[in-house]
Amino acid sequence: MEKKGRRSTSAAPQASHRQGSDSLYGRLVDSVTEYAIFTVSPSGTVTSWNSGAERTFGFAEDEIVGQDVRLLFTPEDIADGQPAGEFTAALNEGRVHRDCWHLRRDGTRFWATNTAQPLRDEAGRPIGFSKIVRDSTERHLAATALRESEERFRLLIESAADYAMFAISLDGTITLWNVGAERLFGFRESEAVGRHFSIIFTLADIENGEPELELRQASAQGSASADRWYVREDGTRFFAVSKLTRLAQSPSAAAAGFVKIAHDITERKHQEEVMRHEAFHDRLTGLPNRALFSEHLQRVLAHAERFRARRFGLLFLDLDDFKAINDRYGHARADILLMELARRLETVVRAEDVVARFGGDEFTILLTDIDRTEQAVAVADALRRAVAEPLLFDDHEIVTTATIGIAIGSSAYERPEHVLRDADLAMYEAKAQGGNRSVVFDERTRSRGAARRSLESELRQALERHEFFVQYQPIVALSNSRVVGFEALVRWRHPQRGTLLPSEFMLAAHQAGLIVSIDGWVLEQACRQLGAWQTDLGNPSVTMNVNQSGLDLAQPDFVARIAGALETSAVAADRLRLEFTERTLMEPTQAVTEQLARIRDLGVEFAVDDFGTGYFGLSALRRFGAGALKIDRSFICGMNDSVEKTEIVRTAVTLAHNLRLSATGMGVETAGEASALRELTCDYGQGNYFSRPLDAERATLMLHPAGAVSW
Ligand code: C2E
Ligand code: MG
Repeated sequence: MEKKGRRSTSAAPQASHRQGSDSLYGRLVDSVTEYAIFTVSPSGTVTSWNSGAERTFGFAEDEIVGQDVRLLFTPEDIADGQPAGEFTAALNEGRVHRDCWHLRRDGTRFWATNTAQPLRDEAGRPIGFSKIVRDSTERHLAATALRESEERFRLLIESAADYAMFAISLDGTITLWNVGAERLFGFRESEAVGRHFSIIFTLADIENGEPELELRQASAQGSASADRWYVREDGTRFFAVSKLTRLAQSPSAAAAGFVKIAHDITERKHQEEVMRHEAFHDRLTGLPNRALFSEHLQRVLAHAERFRARRFGLLFLDLDDFKAINDRYGHARADILLMELARRLETVVRAEDVVARFGGDEFTILLTDIDRTEQAVAVADALRRAVAEPLLFDDHEIVTTATIGIAIGSSAYERPEHVLRDADLAMYEAKAQGGNRSVVFDERTRSRGAARRSLESELRQALERHEFFVQYQPIVALSNSRVVGFEALVRWRHPQRGTLLPSEFMLAAHQAGLIVSIDGWVLEQACRQLGAWQTDLGNPSVTMNVNQSGLDLAQPDFVARIAGALETSAVAADRLRLEFTERTLMEPTQAVTEQLARIRDLGVEFAVDDFGTGYFGLSALRRFGAGALKIDRSFICGMNDSVEKTEIVRTAVTLAHNLRLSATGMGVETAGEASALRELTCDYGQGNYFSRPLDAERATLMLHPAGAVSW
């Protein structure tokens, strides 16, 4: 068939004429320019052609009438059996609608909506078909583009399984729901579509109008971001980052709906929360840590500034001898003790108060609202009682005590750290008073604290500046009144304050961490002096007692240092005696027991100093292998007037002898005390009655046979 058929002179005008002669109807059809209206004979030739058809297809009436209608169809359609299929359907169904591509005269295509209908004669026999065709290319392309973009969008949404994506209409009704949304929210597509998107919000957010707020914001600004908790179908919650975006046909157009994307970050959120918690809490006890406590303190102080009358209490609590507990029972148990104490402290205070772990064995307590100082003191007392409750471990009872410094906070304080500093100063003051008590800060605390601090810094320099010196107090054999040895006692020649005794600086030295250095220095000094006496005076029997603290015993190189001091001074080990206070030895750890054994192996004897002031287990005395008991001054002083003291001393002497230890009476001040000790068969005496502590030269004189004194 020819594409542009020549004009058929026979059938076409006939048909055209036949219809066209239908006067009015023919003209009407011809006037319709929007629609191509034409007729086709049963054999498939065009029989009439209106002006709309001319416009639509580009063929003039005389070009097409009489031609094969397939001129207007695409090869694909023809291959597909058109237009025969269309006409057959029309015959069967009366009328068919079909959307398809058609060809114009110039070979271009247009999308058309078609209607085909059979034409029948009066008898009902088919005489051809009428076709109405409308060019709807534009609409079709727009619809296709939209469909394609919708399809792409749908694919995108549906394939994103890790992201919940759903579309909602202007009023918030869910219209699309992807697999990610199914997974995240737990609603299936069929359950979600058609419902308002507030189904995923928490009740609180719904009450706050959050869903509507989001819609409004997204309408106005194009999008609304929200990181919040959402609710699943089963009621569980998760934390998600989400964004609601306005969808519009064009940027300027009003919203056509919205799409919401949400991504579950609960895990990250949890991690953040865990991290935040860890940053502000103590791992062991779970209590707020120093950082969080400072925040609370800052808030309370700001509050006090706003409400001038407001006062608060800051308690600085430090455990007494926690280090010893750690050494004795091990870290694991000490940790359990700390956890238990933390729990107890919390039960003492009110809910609005804050208990924090400030450091190792330091706790801080913030009493957020108090009227009177006494209230803070009462809480401190209750806290100390709670700490002092024994804790049962296996079959051991651990008892700890606490020292508390109290600062009363008010708007007078400018900075939170000043309140802390004052409570800390009060705590030190309480420690200086022996611990296991509480002290309220006042201005004198500050000056004493300042004095203590300057003392500590002076002490640090004292060693380098050689301001320490040793005095020697003779120890006398009571049987023959001869000087058998000396006790080395440290003194400090303070540049301004003159000679200071141990009681005036040893605690500060302890706190400044200088005790081990000082003791080491005294030990060397005393050994050198002893060596000198032995060689210069030819007195190999004289002994030297040196005081050492519990901290020395804890030093791993302690024994090596003793051996070193003996070697440098060429002193025999059995001439040196180390004194440890009864308190130091009271509850020795395994390490301390081993240290003592090594000291004995070295050949150095040790004495239990201040005997009677502690609660020394008798079995421990033997186990340790102490060589001497030094009976505390408090029992000797005034023993002539006290039967009780005499009996205590008698018992101590008997005990020492039974365990094959020597006994020394300390602080002998009178001849009466000396003879009483002699009567009780005490071996040695030491005290001002015999001699005060002396400088090396004066002590040396004591050893000269010529300088011998008789008591
Ligand atoms: P301590 O070991 O009991 O030493 C005896 C103390 O009693 C000395 O005090 C001494 O001067 C004093 N004293 C002696 N006879 C009498 C007396 O008749 N009446 C009175 N009232 N007191 C007397 P000092 O020298 O003040 O030492 C006090 C404590 O300091 C010592 O007690 C000792 O525990 C400690 N200490 C002294 N030197 C050192 C040292 O180098 N290292 C260590 N860790 N502690 C030391
Ligand atoms: Mg002593």
